[in-house]
Amino acid sequence: MNIADNLNIVENKIQEALQKSGDPDRDVHIIAVTKTISTETIRCAMKSGLTNLGENKVQELVSKYEQIGSGPNWHMIGHLQRNKVKYIVDKVSLIHSMDSLSLAEEINKKAGKVKRDIDVLVQVNVSGEESKFGVDPESALDLIESMETMQWVRIKGLMTMAPFTANQQVTRDCFKRLFELREKIWSMNFNNAEMKYLSMGMSNDYQTAVEEGSNMVRIGSAIFGNRNYD
Ligand SMILES: *Cc1c(COP(=O)(O)O)cnc(C)c1O
Repeated sequence: MNIADNLNIVENKIQEALQKSGDPDRDVHIIAVTKTISTETIRCAMKSGLTNLGENKVQELVSKYEQIGSGPNWHMIGHLQRNKVKYIVDKVSLIHSMDSLSLAEEINKKAGKVKRDIDVLVQVNVSGEESKFGVDPESALDLIESMETMQWVRIKGLMTMAPFTANQQVTRDCFKRLFELREKIWSMNFNNAEMKYLSMGMSNDYQTAVEEGSNMVRIGSAIFGNRNYD
């Protein structure tokens, strides 16, 4: 495994996808998904220029944060339970997995205690798969409206995970729909919804995602190699 080489490949593929997208100057942020990856390897990744790290479990994020510190930007990308918000609210740069009003309220409350604005993305379940977390697209509008007056939580965009399928057209449609949903939310001019990020695309579908307008890709195995997730 060579992180720098892998990263180079990913960056080249993002450039290719940008050319196809009709919006070649867009900035695409790479979130290096470091779940199950050792802190030693993470330090190598940081030397290769990766500054955004994504973790999907609170405990793992906290333990790595304690070892590595606040140098990189920490992204919470996995399902977040309300009772664990307090452990990460002083550490994360962006929560990608905000998917209910009660979670938003808890983040707002705990962020207020440490007096720190917290940026979040609303996770949307575009595909309607039952097993996936995220709000459905219609509820996303209600949720964002309910968050208009929250003092400490800032909505910065949307996140989705494509369904597990080999059918690239299904994946592409999912990304297209998230893009359109953002356009719609933009046009509604909510307070507190800047909508600058679309977090979509993982190792097996990030090129499609970038072609469809993503500006934040969450990449694990294409950078670190394959490993088992639990
Ligand atoms: C693991 C994970 C990723 C990255 O997956 P890869 O296929 O390894 O790129 C992206 N997003 C979320 C929410 C994840 O849990």
